[in-house]
Amino acid sequence: MPLKQVVSSSRVTMTHRELVVIEVETDEGETGVGWCTTAGVGAAAVHALITGYLAPMLVGLDPRNTERIWQRLWMECHAAGPAGITTLAISAIDIALWDLKAKSAGEPLHRLLGGARESVEVYASAINLHLSLDELVEQVRAQAGEGYTSFKIKIGRPGLYEDLQRCLAVRRVIGDNGLLMLDANQKWSVGEATQRIRILLEAAPLFIEEPLLSDDIEGHAKLRDVTGMPIAMGEQLCNRFEFWNYVSRRAADYLQPDVWKVGGITEFLKIAALGAAAGIPISPHGALELSVHLAAALPNAMHVENIFGLNLFDFAATSTPMIISNGRYVPGSAPGHGVTFDRAALEEHELPLGEAIERQPLYAFS
Ligand SMILES: [Mg+2]
Repeated sequence: MPLKQVVSSSRVTMTHRELVVIEVETDEGETGVGWCTTAGVGAAAVHALITGYLAPMLVGLDPRNTERIWQRLWMECHAAGPAGITTLAISAIDIALWDLKAKSAGEPLHRLLGGARESVEVYASAINLHLSLDELVEQVRAQAGEGYTSFKIKIGRPGLYEDLQRCLAVRRVIGDNGLLMLDANQKWSVGEATQRIRILLEAAPLFIEEPLLSDDIEGHAKLRDVTGMPIAMGEQLCNRFEFWNYVSRRAADYLQPDVWKVGGITEFLKIAALGAAAGIPISPHGALELSVHLAAALPNAMHVENIFGLNLFDFAATSTPMIISNGRYVPGSAPGHGVTFDRAALEEHELPLGEAIERQPLYAFS
């Protein structure tokens, strides 16, 4: 799906959102819908993995046995990779099975999963490093005007003090009580991050997300110890073991699992339990439409992220917007996850098996 605007972080420039949507049908005529998305690489592989390997394995299984099915799919894929394309594919299937399970129980997903709270806080987020300082301030001011009180912005501009200027300008808009979160998208080395974070502390952020490559667990642990800046981590991590590596090394202060990347709801619940045992809050990454259910269900989830331009409605995959007022969302009571895709919009951009979108490279090499 083409984005309405081309957007940039410190690492990538995005023109499209890839979306793999699946339906699981039962012999009783019920249908569950699941999906995963990527920034622009991988969906064709996920499509092929599901169509060629995973979907045929599901035929004849009892869809209520989500643990049994998850284990089977994950072990079948394990030699090909226990994380990544495989867990993206498993996520789409698992989400569809939980949709089915909630529908057959006659319950909305958030209540089936635990029902910890009646409404969830939503924070305003955007891929906005390409914006000028004035445009950034204007964007945050508009978000605050919609009632949001928590905000995440991208950092990682070349200039050391440029990032600080942007953070302080946003701080002035949101006030002392506004919550500011920063996302560096894995831009720096430990040394550079140490220097930059010491300067950025002045803007009093709640956390910095992905200051280093997500693969560098020791680096994050060191950075956290040396700077005192809380670190959020998780959008690249793809299963409970990858999260456990961060939890056990005390390398993160907030865990950000993405439900359509970690293997779906079945695995997300286990990651949330890791956080609960370690006293680390869950800040679900993206996936607004499903994260609201998970955050409403789980006591240690703190808020969910609305990435402006990247929720399903914003890139026209659904035709009904979610009603977020004063930075809060009240999940509905319709059975399942309640997401209905705009089939005509999806079909307009649908690609045949094996074909990838044509787009500019994600990474700009200098
Ligand atoms: Mg991020």
